[in-house]
Amino acid sequence: MSAPIVLPRLLHIGKNACEQIPATLAALGSKKPLIVTDKMMVKLGYAGRITDILKTAGISADIYDDTVPEPTDTSIMGGVEMVRRGDYDSIIALGGGSPIDSAKAIAVMGKHGGVIRDYVFPRQVNEAGLPLIAVPTTAGTGSECTRVTIITDEAASEKLLCVGLGFMPAAAIVDYTLTLSVPPRTTADTGIDALTHAVEAYVSKKANPFSDMQALAAMKLIGPNLRTAYHDGANEAAREAMMLGSMLAGMAFSNASVALVHGMSRPIGAFFHVPHGLSNAMLLPTVTAYSIPAAEQRYAECARTIGVATAKDSDAEANQKLLAELEALNRELSVPTLAEFGVRQEDFEHVIDTMAAQALASGSPANNPRVPEHAEIIELYRKLW
Ligand code: NAD
Repeated sequence: MSAPIVLPRLLHIGKNACEQIPATLAALGSKKPLIVTDKMMVKLGYAGRITDILKTAGISADIYDDTVPEPTDTSIMGGVEMVRRGDYDSIIALGGGSPIDSAKAIAVMGKHGGVIRDYVFPRQVNEAGLPLIAVPTTAGTGSECTRVTIITDEAASEKLLCVGLGFMPAAAIVDYTLTLSVPPRTTADTGIDALTHAVEAYVSKKANPFSDMQALAAMKLIGPNLRTAYHDGANEAAREAMMLGSMLAGMAFSNASVALVHGMSRPIGAFFHVPHGLSNAMLLPTVTAYSIPAAEQRYAECARTIGVATAKDSDAEANQKLLAELEALNRELSVPTLAEFGVRQEDFEHVIDTMAAQALASGSPANNPRVPEHAEIIELYRKLW
């Protein structure tokens, strides 16, 4: 059986790779980029650094910095309007997954119109938007290498998953130095997000030999470096490993799939504004325990690759160690429970049925090694209390 593999056309990876943006624009034949970013990137001086690099190469760029964390259908519209009215020939997406996902939607909708719901999965969005150069500043979503964007429909409190060739960046600039300023909480949330991508891609029903290699390489990098990056954000070796790991994890899941953790995580984010990586972290131990019986060998391999079990451990022993590690990781990285985050159990119960329906509708749970019914998803949600 064969598997289709989709990747960016061009990657620049390593220290100060962002200096290669002008060369990347030239390689893509682009002269008039729009920078899509958030206010934090402007405040931290990253947006200024990019415009300076461009200026030195004789390129001027406008900036759209009104994207928000966990982007919404309304937050992207200012950027869509700029693309519709302007004569931009490319987009530079600078920031975490939120500005990159916003830029992906802006690049496609600016050219092809409509509203984000028109592009929702299971539609395959293969229409090309403006060419996108993704410059991630978190490690991370891996969005720089995925054919996915996730935008919340605010009125319906639903995170919409949009998938297709049209959302794959033309180029990715993967420069870990941009992550040195990420605070510990976001380092933890985004790092667990990347770990979840790698594990879910590896146990996914859509896993293939290519995605397996990326997923295993990602786990090998993330396993020993996540705690270091969290405790010592200035540690360049750990930041570099996390950046490469999150990119590989993105390649893995984009060419396989995510599964039940992500399916159940998106509704928690949409209803209770829990950051994406954090809701994944809350779910990962519970969903892994539920799923192990259907893929014992695969999960045991994850434990060995992350570095918490050895070749001498049986699969059952390795899986016990994996579950213990996921719990320990959440404790050490101070991952709050839903209650500690401030969610009220009665509010959660009020929408639990809708959340289970949204999770199933996203298609992600169907890729899980153990596929739950609606009622089982509700049970798993209740285990978080
Ligand atoms: P984010 O982009 O929302 O950023 C979180 C916070 O960290 C923001 O306040 C941001 O300004 C700040 N930040 C980012 N980089 C920083 C830096 N270098 N220094 C200091 N602060 C920095 O977080 P994220 O986890 O990267 O992205 C989450 C979004 O990505 C969600 O909307 C999620 O659904 C989506 N996502 C997309 C994919 C995909 O394949 N497209 C995959 C996973 C998640």
